[in-house]
Amino acid sequence: MHYKVSISNPTEHFIQLTFTIDSIHQDYIHIQLPAWRPGRYELQNYAKNIRCFEITDDKKNQIAFKKITKDCWEVETKNINKIFISYEYYANQYDAGASYIDESQLYINPINCMMYVVGREDENYDIELAIPDEYKIACQLQVTEKTIHAKNFDELADSPFIASASLQHSSIKIQHTTIHFWFQGNHQLDIERLKNDTKLYTQKQIELFGDLPCSDYHFLYHILDKPFRHGVEHADSTVIAMGKSIEQNEEDFYNDLLAISSHELFHLWNIKRIRPVDMFPYDFTKENYSTLGYVYEGITTYYGDLILLRSGVWSWEKYCKSFSSDLKRHVENPGRFNYSVAESSFDTWLDGYVPGVIGRKTSIYMEGMLAAFIADIMIIKYSDKKYSLDNVMRDLYAHFYKHGKGYTESDYKSLLEKYSGIPFDNYFKEIIWGKGNFEKYLKDVVDCLGCEIDFTEPLLNRNNNYTITQNELFKCWARI
Ligand SMILES: [Zn+2]
Repeated sequence: MHYKVSISNPTEHFIQLTFTIDSIHQDYIHIQLPAWRPGRYELQNYAKNIRCFEITDDKKNQIAFKKITKDCWEVETKNINKIFISYEYYANQYDAGASYIDESQLYINPINCMMYVVGREDENYDIELAIPDEYKIACQLQVTEKTIHAKNFDELADSPFIASASLQHSSIKIQHTTIHFWFQGNHQLDIERLKNDTKLYTQKQIELFGDLPCSDYHFLYHILDKPFRHGVEHADSTVIAMGKSIEQNEEDFYNDLLAISSHELFHLWNIKRIRPVDMFPYDFTKENYSTLGYVYEGITTYYGDLILLRSGVWSWEKYCKSFSSDLKRHVENPGRFNYSVAESSFDTWLDGYVPGVIGRKTSIYMEGMLAAFIADIMIIKYSDKKYSLDNVMRDLYAHFYKHGKGYTESDYKSLLEKYSGIPFDNYFKEIIWGKGNFEKYLKDVVDCLGCEIDFTEPLLNRNNNYTITQNELFKCWARI
């Protein structure tokens, strides 16, 4: 499969694409564009950004086609071996999961604008970029001069890239992996400090899972000149779009960048490899419903911050500040009395990324994080500090991902029970599928840690002056 990408109209934010398909032997073929992207579990209907769609053969004759769904085209290919599909894609959404073009850069998430032939998803792709010679390319895939190579559509769909003359690059080595840092946009960041902190938290994540399964990993940072915060995970990379607000100082902005980076790196294991059976493999044409968002986003949110504390990159005070802000969002959301976190996960496809109707739903991020925290402390407590949620995650990685399969709610529950030695029926009934029942559990686990929690003015450990307690369970949890 071959794509040619041209940028003759950057000021109006249109990208020109030509998809060449050869070795056709059927009377009809179906061409599919994804309807959503992993990381955001709602339909996005990318086909609405396409115009000037036409199909020709190698003598430039028009080929007949018709749409059979909103993003699938049926093409008449009787006695035709090779076709060229050309179209323009409107790339004017500058965030971590979309595509954007202007005079200074070409930034593409291929899942937005590139297609596959139904039944031929496993064939390899070459993406040829008609870009200026001075442009550098940042991407997790192999790049030869101006061509990007993917071994199949899944890999292409998971591999965003930035091409620009002003891309800044730096790297570090951790064990056998090279970690790349790419920056697009002006920033005031202390790169040496970022490299050092990244090394510290990455090492702690590798310790948790046992290995880092990629030879190269890329942080693609877009630094915007407006307040912004968005990150999207991929198998061997992440795109993070950040912009500082006026009220934020450089130190707070830096810590926020670390928090989102640690979260996205954790996804490398938790969702890009350890994945619910409902999304194994992904179906890009329609909703992939799952009630397990509290695992793939909740546990990731929980560990993103906890790993920064464990690695010493964050102080206890910084950790508490972030925890308290998540707790505040839980306490101030009346939706927790109406809908469980599992039901809210299923419904991300409906209203997961908008405020929605007041009092209707919870968040797989916030309630999921609190559910993970409770599960972690329960395991540490009931196993007498022998195990923690770390063991559950390592087990999911070793016994599900590495055996080529997804996990179910009952698999996850069995692992919580295996490492804690107690039944988790009430936990699933009250916290995962229940409504508004977090407080009493939270109070219990925070007591175990020797900390304090205040729900009226949501704060963790507010009366302890942020000193680390000497409680043994606390030390086991924070690895201090
Ligand atoms: Zn996430």
